[in-house]
This record gives sequence, C-alpha cells and structure tokens, in this order.
Amino acid sequence: MDRFYIDGGWVAPAGRDTIPVEDPTHETIIDHVPAGTAEDVDRAVAAARRAFPAWSAADPAERAAHLDKLHTVLAGRADEIARTIARELGTPLKVATAVQAGLPLAVLRSYADLAARPLPEETIGNSTVVREPIGVVGAITPWNYPLHQVVAKLAPALAAGCTVVLKPSEITPLVAYLLFDAIDAAGLPPGVVNLVTGTGPVVGEALAVHPDVDMVSFTGSTAVGARISHLAADRIARVALELGGKSANVILADADLTKAVKVGVGNAFLNSGQTCTAWTRMLVHRSLYPDAVELATAAASAYPLGDPFAAGTRLGPLSSQSQKNRVRGYVAKGLAEGARLTTGGLDATVPERGHFVAPTVLADVTPDATVAQEEIFGPVLSIIPFADDDEAVAIANNSRYGLAGGVWSGDEERALRVARRMRTGQVDINGGRFNPVAPFGGYKRSGLGRELGVHGLHEFLETKAIQR
Ligand code: NAD
Repeated sequence: MDRFYIDGGWVAPAGRDTIPVEDPTHETIIDHVPAGTAEDVDRAVAAARRAFPAWSAADPAERAAHLDKLHTVLAGRADEIARTIARELGTPLKVATAVQAGLPLAVLRSYADLAARPLPEETIGNSTVVREPIGVVGAITPWNYPLHQVVAKLAPALAAGCTVVLKPSEITPLVAYLLFDAIDAAGLPPGVVNLVTGTGPVVGEALAVHPDVDMVSFTGSTAVGARISHLAADRIARVALELGGKSANVILADADLTKAVKVGVGNAFLNSGQTCTAWTRMLVHRSLYPDAVELATAAASAYPLGDPFAAGTRLGPLSSQSQKNRVRGYVAKGLAEGARLTTGGLDATVPERGHFVAPTVLADVTPDATVAQEEIFGPVLSIIPFADDDEAVAIANNSRYGLAGGVWSGDEERALRVARRMRTGQVDINGGRFNPVAPFGGYKRSGLGRELGVHGLHEFLETKAIQR
C-alpha cells in the first residue's frame, strides 16, 4: 500500500517513510503502509471540512442510501475481510468470519437503518431542542478488532452528518485499505471519509491537536486515551474514549457451573484474549471453586493453538512480539505473587514460529494481585474465590476499569441484583447474547461515552435549544 484516501481519491503521501505490516503467525513482512505526517493530516482534515456543509445538510435518506450502498459492497467482500484480518492479526478464520467481519457488517447495517430517521427533536416548554452533527471527527483505532472498531465510529459519525478522518492501527492497517476500496466503490461524496495511516505519536497526535477537528473518537489503551484527552482539552474538543478493561465473570453459588465456566473460558480467550471486554477474572463461590478450577483447566488445555487458517484452530498468535513479551511478563509476575498455574504458562509447548502464548489458567489469584488488576491482553484467565454475593460485588468492583462483566445464577432476579451493583458498562446474565445496537462503553478508566446503536449516534451530535 502506498497511498492515502483523501478527498474521494487515492493520493500520494507527503513523505516517503513506510511502516512494515507483519503476519504474526509466520513472522514475515506482508506489506508496507505509508507513515503519514502532520502535512497529510492537514490535507485530510481540510477535505473533511470542505465536505461537511453539504454532508451535514443532506437529507437523512440520502446519507442512509450511501451507508446502505457501502454495506452492500462490503458484505460482498466479507470473505476477504475475514482472510485479511486472519492474516494481519492472526484471528482464527472461523472467528474472523463470524466476529471480525460479521460484527462490523451488522453494525453498518444498523446505522444504514438509523441514518434514515431524522435527527431527534423535542419540545421543552417554549424551546425546540434540536440535534446537529458535531463537525469533523478524527477517529483513531486499535488493532484487536480492526474493522469493527473503525465501523463503530465511522458509521454513526456519517449517519449523524459528520465527516471523518481515520487513522487505523499501524499494526493492522490492511483491512482499512479494503474498507476504503469499498468506500470508493460505493461512491461516497469526496472528503466525507478520509484515510491517513501512520504512527500514533505522529498522525494520531496531529489529529488530536488539529484546530479543525471538532471531535476525537478513540479506541485503545487507557494511557493513550488520557494523552488524547489532554491534547484535546486545550481547545475543548469533544472526546469519546473506548479503553481497556479487566472484567469479572461472577459465578454465584446456584449457577449452572459447567455452562458458566465453558462460556467464561471462551469469552476470556476470544481473539487470543485480545478483547477489551474479555472476562479475565473468573470469580467463583467457594462451594464451587475446586470444580470451577478443574473445569476451566480442562477447557483451556483443550484449546487447539495454531495457524489461523487451519481448520480446528481456536487460538491464534498474539498480534506482535512485544505483545507476547508483555503477556509472558504478566504470567511470570502472577506466579511470583503466589498464583497457582493449572495449565499453560511460560514452559508450555507452542508453535516455534509465531507470537504464540499457550492458554493459561491461574488459580488462587488474590483480588489485588497484578494479574487481577492490570489488563494483560492475552489468553490468561485468573480465578478468584469469594464467600457471598456481597464479596463477589466488592471484588468485581475492585478495579480501576469497568467495561463488561458476567453474572451466573439459577435465580435470574438474584443475578440481576448483582448485575445492577457492578460498576461496569455491560453485564451479561447467564451468557446473555451480545447486542450490536445496545450502548457499549466503559465506567471509570474504561472510557467516556458510548458506541453502537442510537446511543452511539448521539455521541456525534451537538444539542441546540431554540426559544420562541
Ligand atoms: P494503543 O492505545 O497503543 O493504540 C490505539 C491507537 O492509538 C493506534 O492507532 C495507535 O497508533 C494510536 N496512538 C498511539 N499513541 C498515540 C498518541 N500518542 N496519540 C494519538 N494516537 C496514538 O492501543 P492498542 O495497543 O492498539 O490496542 C490495545 C488496547 O486497546 C487495549 O488496552 C484494549 O483494551 C483497548 N481496546 C479497547 C476497546 C474498547 O472498546 N473499550 C476496544 C478494543 C481495544
């Protein structure tokens, strides 16, 4: 790849530097993308600014028709999306097809539908309250769900009437090129969406400080989210942040243990544990604890690890060598702080090539241990016992994060009471299905604002009261 997508066409970057893209399974360089500069960002933001008046004033039906067309084009390339992500990230093809391609297509579909509705208006006393698009949005996204995280910003922003400059992760930029090919084929008006690849400190920061960017929508680590907030604060730019997590899966004494552990392990290890909502802390009532450890250990050790394109693989490599080193460091720290390794760990057999870490279960983890507090972003599950529902809630909430969570109980009302007490943006009871139009986002250091559905759309709107 050697171009950016700006103002409705593929253009040459201002500089000559490039960034290699690695296949993490084979540790080979499969492509390069341009390392953008502040000059490229200026050009893209200017295009988005020029496109804003017409796009924001367009009839909702017209914006909806564009999103609908984009959905059709992209859906026709679902297979290619899954393969691209399996290659550049290492997600097993089956999961890449169902989640990495399936989810963004569902989200795009939902916004093509929502875009057709007029923006909400209400009357309060003598005021008409109207909602209007914020303006030019800078979108900065990570590598773990590289198409979904882009679509979760771009689709609602466009539906709301905003224009966008995207900087995807430099680790997994190839699927963004596929998306912009589809945008080009779908014929979106020039400047409405623009792509500049590059590193966070250069392209990301140029977007975050740009005086003509009205809102920065960021998904990634909490540390970078804080940095972006600082940069945007000087000009009071709007900021939406989807950040890290350390979610708890609470298994109460009357739960269906077999199901709770099976689903819980699957959730923790999805995408090799590189999922911000992963239930990385399994909290289990003492009466079930020995059985839970045994079941989780058996489930984890049965996970086939290997090439994402091989049939039967459920766990691919981690995204990079530095991610692998980081995860191994956490496992070592967990053991040094007294956790008991029941499967996986640092000496487990993994393919020689590729950034693999074996599915790892740590039992007897204490609530304050590093592995129970910090986001590991790898296939590492910590199991923690509790005595009663109150203690379960206290341990679940003993976290600076608050993104997701689970509760399991034979009594749904009891589970609901626990779910309501959890300081977190989502909670699934007895494995409640993921809902792509429900608000998604974090409490505490897991973020600011909500994505998906109508809540996600409203993030991109200003509110105006007109008095008569
Ligand atoms: P990251 O924060 O390092 O990078 C995310 C994006 O920000 C990348 O595009 C990167 O280039 C850019 N960036 C880096 N430094 C920057 C800077 N100084 N200024 C502007 N942009 C900068 O995160 P990552 O390693 O790509 O992704 C993993 C993290 O993302 C995990 O912590 C995970 O929990 C989080 N995440 C959160 C959600 C969510 O919805 N809450 C979803 C997925 C991932």
